[in-house]
Amino acid sequence: MVRLIDENGLRIDGRRPDQLRPIKMEAGVLEKSDGSAYIEVGGTRIYAAVFGPREVHPKHLELPDRAVLNCRYHMASFSVDERKPLGMTRREIELSKVLREALETVVFLEEFPRMMIDVFVEVVQADGGTRTAGITAASLALADAGIPMADMVAATAVGKVDGVIVLDINEAEDKYGQADMPVAMAPRLGSIVLLQLNGMMTTEEIEKGLDMAGNAIKHIQQLQIEALRRRYHIEAGGEEV
Ligand code: ADP
Repeated sequence: MVRLIDENGLRIDGRRPDQLRPIKMEAGVLEKSDGSAYIEVGGTRIYAAVFGPREVHPKHLELPDRAVLNCRYHMASFSVDERKPLGMTRREIELSKVLREALETVVFLEEFPRMMIDVFVEVVQADGGTRTAGITAASLALADAGIPMADMVAATAVGKVDGVIVLDINEAEDKYGQADMPVAMAPRLGSIVLLQLNGMMTTEEIEKGLDMAGNAIKHIQQLQIEALRRRYHIEAGGEEV
């Protein structure tokens, strides 16, 4: 048994249950892509790069009425402490789909028929919450590329450890905890665009977790906006980005 909450109610990394790990975000960090972002959430470090809208490749994937959003989530083989296979694993293929479906809800794809938007998410260090940090970074990179969107999606995961509902679980909490619930939202639209649950939580715990995630996601979106303002030298309180 690993003890995840101490006698003071604090977590193994010293956080309170409703506390996020330190987050750093930057937009426009890569030169070859049309838009890019870097995010750090505790020990999790991720780059996202966006290309397009550009011609569809391979051509047969082209859609007459909207753009194709192509997402690739990948973990670098040095991002984990175990031996990770070099190619795309089943988990990475599934997470690529999860990311695409979350982002598709906000991107105005119908503005770019017969085009393709490529989103690459590269996890360079994994410490829990890579799908959620990946979505946050991908969304920031899409905004940096100037892709029109109804909202900027942001995400975090809540979990249950030692019977306590906690925000932004790290790798150890994911591994030894009782539940893991990644959540992505489009906060301005008031919508959930990704919700998964591994483990067991009561409906009351899920409601509490969603509440916690919702508040955190509003804060994370603020960090995305600040990263865009820094990138485009827009003063806080100036024109909305
Ligand atoms: P997420 O990263 O979105 O939380 P998972 O719940 O699948 O996704 O993974 C939890 C954590 O477990 C990851 O963030 C990472 O730290 C670790 N992990 C995932 N896949 C591997 C792997 N192949 N080898 C070692 N660690 C991994």
